[in-house]
Amino acid sequence: MTPQKIRAIYKRFQKANPNPRGELIHEAENPYTLLVAVVLSAQATDVGVNKATAKLFPVADTPEKMVALGEERLRDYIKTIGLFRMKAKNVIALSRKLLDEHGGQVPRDRETLETLPGVGRKTANVVLNIAFGEPTIAVDTHIFRVGNRTRLAPGKTPREVEDGLERVTPDEFKLHAHHWLILHGRYVCIARKPLCPTCPIADLCEYDAKTPAIAPKQPSARAASRKGTSADPSPPRSRAPQPPRRSPTARRGA
Ligand code: SF4
Repeated sequence: MTPQKIRAIYKRFQKANPNPRGELIHEAENPYTLLVAVVLSAQATDVGVNKATAKLFPVADTPEKMVALGEERLRDYIKTIGLFRMKAKNVIALSRKLLDEHGGQVPRDRETLETLPGVGRKTANVVLNIAFGEPTIAVDTHIFRVGNRTRLAPGKTPREVEDGLERVTPDEFKLHAHHWLILHGRYVCIARKPLCPTCPIADLCEYDAKTPAIAPKQPSARAASRKGTSADPSPPRSRAPQPPRRSPTARRGA
């Protein structure tokens, strides 16, 4: 894909949504609640995480409070989220580590973030981007799909797509690229049947198998005649006179 096309794609995203926001509602509160929300969101929906954290964060929004809450009670708050047992263990362990090694603060560099239990490269990138305003692009399933389909940054692994996006995304768009691409993948370039006919970047996207537009339905001849109209625009033909039919009885008697 040419740099001109790439710039045009981001320009359209920017015009439609100049200040994109993620959908984890507690992500903006503080770096710690953001970190916990992102750890909980692995293989779960943002809506599900938001429901759980709406009750959890009023009682535990710092590492101290989370450790005091304890793993068992934390499990109760998050039991509606997939993999909650493992996530509860990780959240308590990462909170302890933050207290023991980082003065209770969320570190601002990727390498250190990745040493926290339950935190991988994607989570670290999200935290760096949203909490600290770093121009990182965390590649999740949506961004992976969009990067490949559009040919913006094709790659076989999330890391390849991330490196590609880092390389081709102009600096001015890097801060918001993560949110633009994730929202585009979640709501327009969806997994099963992408909404290509209404996609705002369809003319720039290089996906070979775009979803075709559905042609408006033509009324059937019967429906049209019921309405007093004709599906056939030609004038009605007059009926030719038909010869009288002979009944089978008449034929037998002939
Ligand atoms: S045109 Fe289709 S495949 Fe391309 S980005 Fe839009 S929705 Fe995705």
